[in-house]
Amino acid sequence: MKFNTGKELIKLCNDLEHSIYEVMILRECELSGKSKHEIINEMHSSYDIMKQAVKSGVTKDIISISGLTGGDAKKIFENSASIHGPVCGAFMKKAMAYSMGVLEVNASMGKIVAAPTAGSSGIIPGAFIALQEEYNLHDEKLIKALFTASGVGLLISKNATVAGAEGGCQAETGSAAAMAAAGIVELMGGSPEEALHAAAIALKNILGLVCDPIAGLVESPCEKRNGLGVSNALISAEMVLCGVTSIIPFDEVVEAMYKVGRSLPFELKETALGGLAATPTGKNIKIQIFGDE
Ligand code: SF4
Repeated sequence: MKFNTGKELIKLCNDLEHSIYEVMILRECELSGKSKHEIINEMHSSYDIMKQAVKSGVTKDIISISGLTGGDAKKIFENSASIHGPVCGAFMKKAMAYSMGVLEVNASMGKIVAAPTAGSSGIIPGAFIALQEEYNLHDEKLIKALFTASGVGLLISKNATVAGAEGGCQAETGSAAAMAAAGIVELMGGSPEEALHAAAIALKNILGLVCDPIAGLVESPCEKRNGLGVSNALISAEMVLCGVTSIIPFDEVVEAMYKVGRSLPFELKETALGGLAATPTGKNIKIQIFGDE
């Protein structure tokens, strides 16, 4: 199961008449020497951790170690402060709360699945668990979608980066949204080609986003970017499932993302020296947390 590009992955899928998730499961079996059953069980464990993080994130009173974030996911989930119905619809609001809840769990040193990173760990669970509840889907389907998502993450890691320190936030939350979008498309019956169209669209939507965490902590703006990322994933998948395609092919979008990331100044790549981290408020927050160093 060797492939280095999206084009090669699609060819493999077409030659074998497999979905991306089937190719990814077989690849894992080959690489690890484990059985299909073992590989699927391991993914199941990851999905259970995602579910637990979502549940904690929207039901517990979480405050991060720094005190910078916490309580927003629960606020959105409970709708406690809203005087009107949801602007984005109940489903999107739930997905948003779930994704943000995972980031709050991460910031309070709770257990999450870094898919692909801790800073972007809310997007896949937010989208998948909200979809599972909406359509009453069996876990098995979501496990398959996680393998699809992993295929996209693998391709981006091989040909670009998923690290904010190397490629900016586009590489983290953009990749997570691309992974989630592809997983949703296959989950909802789309083809491997369509899954990569959705991944390409999600990545394009966020191209150029810088990494500028306040006080250098993976909290803000990270949490809200996960809320945005989940909507990016769902919207990109929706476009493709309605027949829309990405004008620029997936592989070229990944290459463009990498080039954009490399051309970003170091201040905008997780150093907390630029962007929101360098605003007067961002600097003040850093002093409040760490003192005047
Ligand atoms: S701002 Fe930086 S640390 Fe935060 S999610 Fe984006 S890439 Fe990760």
